[in-house]
Amino acid sequence: MPVVNRRVCAVPAAPILRQRNPPVSERDPSTSTPDVHRDGNGRPDSPRNFLEQIVEGHLQQGTHGGRVVTRFPPEPNGYLHLGHAKAITVNFGLARRYGGRCHLRMDDTNPTTEETEYVESIQDDVRWLGGEWGEHFYYASDYFERLYELAIVLIDKGLAFVDDESVDEIREHRGTIKVAGTPSRNRDRSVAENRDLFARMRAGEFPDGSRVLRAKIDMSAANILMRDPLMYRIRHAHHHRTGDKWCIYPMYDYAHGLSDAIEGITHSICTLEFENNRDLYDWFVANTGIQPVPRQYEFARLNVDYTVLSKRRLIQLAQDQLTGWDDPRMPTIAGLRRRGIRAEALRAFCEDVGVTKTNSMVDVGRLESCIRDDLNHLVPRVMAVVDPLELVIETYPEGEGEVFDAALYPHDHPLEGTRAVPFTRTLYIERDDFAVDPPKGWHRLAPGVEVRLRYAYFVTCTGFDTDADGKVIRVRASHDPASRKGEAADGRKVKGTLHWVSATRSLPAEFRLYDRLFTAPAPGDRTGDYLDDLNPESLVVRPGFIEPSVAAEAQGSRYQFERVGYFIGDVKDCAPDHLVFNRIVTLRDSWAKQTKVEAPVAEAPTQAGLAEAAARRAEKARPGKRTKTHIRAANREADAVLAARFDAWQTELGLDGEQADLLTGDRGLSDLFEAAAAAYAGPLFELVKWTTNILVGAVGEADFATLPFDGGAFARLVALVDAGEISLRAAKDVLAELVAKGGEPTEIVDRLGLRAEADAGTLDTLIAQVFEAQADFVARFRAGETKLLGFLIGQVMQASGGKADPKAARAAVVAALGAG
Ligand code: ATP
Ligand code: MG
Repeated sequence: MPVVNRRVCAVPAAPILRQRNPPVSERDPSTSTPDVHRDGNGRPDSPRNFLEQIVEGHLQQGTHGGRVVTRFPPEPNGYLHLGHAKAITVNFGLARRYGGRCHLRMDDTNPTTEETEYVESIQDDVRWLGGEWGEHFYYASDYFERLYELAIVLIDKGLAFVDDESVDEIREHRGTIKVAGTPSRNRDRSVAENRDLFARMRAGEFPDGSRVLRAKIDMSAANILMRDPLMYRIRHAHHHRTGDKWCIYPMYDYAHGLSDAIEGITHSICTLEFENNRDLYDWFVANTGIQPVPRQYEFARLNVDYTVLSKRRLIQLAQDQLTGWDDPRMPTIAGLRRRGIRAEALRAFCEDVGVTKTNSMVDVGRLESCIRDDLNHLVPRVMAVVDPLELVIETYPEGEGEVFDAALYPHDHPLEGTRAVPFTRTLYIERDDFAVDPPKGWHRLAPGVEVRLRYAYFVTCTGFDTDADGKVIRVRASHDPASRKGEAADGRKVKGTLHWVSATRSLPAEFRLYDRLFTAPAPGDRTGDYLDDLNPESLVVRPGFIEPSVAAEAQGSRYQFERVGYFIGDVKDCAPDHLVFNRIVTLRDSWAKQTKVEAPVAEAPTQAGLAEAAARRAEKARPGKRTKTHIRAANREADAVLAARFDAWQTELGLDGEQADLLTGDRGLSDLFEAAAAAYAGPLFELVKWTTNILVGAVGEADFATLPFDGGAFARLVALVDAGEISLRAAKDVLAELVAKGGEPTEIVDRLGLRAEADAGTLDTLIAQVFEAQADFVARFRAGETKLLGFLIGQVMQASGGKADPKAARAAVVAALGAG
């Protein structure tokens, strides 16, 4: 698949879009020309995901005055990683596609030091990925003064107050999901007093932690984030840009939406964990009265298996385990770049994964295959031997040699070129291309076996020498002078072709064979410590030899070393007199086989993982690399009922395009959903979520049309969870049972003893007990060791005998800790 020229299909603006956009003269110089993709008839192609659908809807209706302004807002406290690459392609991609612009904003509302390195690396990586922000580079800290003024607007409206309760008190009074919060004793302070205290907070009169500014919203709001959230806290800390000017700093929720509004962002795109924060985002924008009004949209973050993406872990890896942020094993953009991956491959990967609203785990093999696809048609092929074994052609005259003119690209390749490859009596071949006692079907070199040396001669192994330990140190062979350039004069064939280099006229080189950094799909799942799953062989360094043609330009050049893999001359360490090559990726997926063998002992796969796997199998089973989306579209084309539902469910049931696509892509699934919807009394979106997130995963490969239960049973199961009779986790067990054997949900619940025992009251009691027993850990959590959260939730789950709903337990623990 030639990905190289993907973006070259930019065309003039589609008329429909141009009408909606402001006249060119009014437009910002950095505004892109719409990059609307078109089909063969010149029509713009349809939106590829729900975000594009939203934006196109807005453009058609003239919302935001036809403007599309997005932003990418990293916090400069680390290097960007694969997940950020996703956010960058989404945000800059939308701007490019719809003729808008995308801002790069450093979200630096936390005073921290030494961020210049991070700011520079972020700019460098975004630019490398193709993100163009023009003059729209900003710092959230630029808005501190404006944010302060807007806080006073809220104070004056009676919508914000200074609280001198301690942070612990505030947490305690916030309540839980089941219990409303208690208003602070300072909630009704007068505007004048609030103004005065806030000004004095700014002036530095009070110590850290003594006072905060809070929004006055609703202490009994169902969304705990809305219970008088913090807006400002006091921190006498030096900021990398504003220095000591400020000693009060705005909280993320307050600063983010307002920064978007200040910059005129129209579509503020973030990941799903911020869904609950949207209420707050909207509240701050609405009540400060700031214009124009931005809107937040959430999409699923990118998770990749065999990888970690959390900043805390990446910092630990970069500083303690590997050689730095750009170590070629790091999933940072800097690491991927140094490894030799091209921006084109990374963008193709992000496009391939797509934009969705359901979290899932992406197979890292997909990234690797995008990398291969990208390099396959692009890079020259040369010969290198990474694990050399001497091969002496005893029939070839000593002291003589010749040079073969060898093509750099396969014969059907658009690029042309040749290089000179010297041949001599003594060569090196790959150690594992020779076997003393070969297994059946062996086509490489072995005593008596004839093979072709690529571009050169047919040779037959006549013997070998070993050292005192029996290790083979030399292979001997004779050659057929009539097979020069690799074709025998009598037309006879050989099965194997080996790569080789001259022992006397090749160059020594260091080969850094990189592999996946972790051996487990979910690092840390087994033991709780992700470092336990580090792959001890993620880097194997081999001294070997390479043909001399690469010497001059090796640094930063990519090659396919025939039969070995894709490599790049390391940008830092490779020099003409010291060649160092990084393996970018192997030629084939060597993990696919391994993981298949491990499958039976692997951890229970996640729902999303199962769905992924089923889709992969489906893709493999059908020729022509059809994606899941293609298959669903084809099913609709063949089935008028599905096609009709696809439209009707969007207009009548209000499903978004992606949901409708999922639910009308397979007749069995679609029928089941329809029957469930008829039987279900709760809100439809719940059922949609259940069907797309949980049911699809639980059914996996099985055929929806022949499941041993019907939509009614599925609806009754969802209703049991809604009624709080069973936990989500229990529901998944019931579903597994339904898929396997059918039955009636309530009956299965009783039989398996799954009825939820820990109701909210019990949960609070359990939490109180756990917190008392684990007072040390609670104190450490409150002192900042936030990673202990999982431990505390685990203790509560355990105390409930596994009966509590993990989600409710999590929320209740978070609320009890005041960690929201
Ligand atoms: P942390 O949570 O450790 O602060 P972060 O990943 O949120 O790190 P930011 O610098 O705040 O880091 O992220 C900048 C932007 O990148 C945010 O808009 C965030 O939503 C997005 N982003 C971060 N990780 C991912 C991911 N895995 N997939 C998609 N987008 C991501
Ligand atoms: Mg963040």
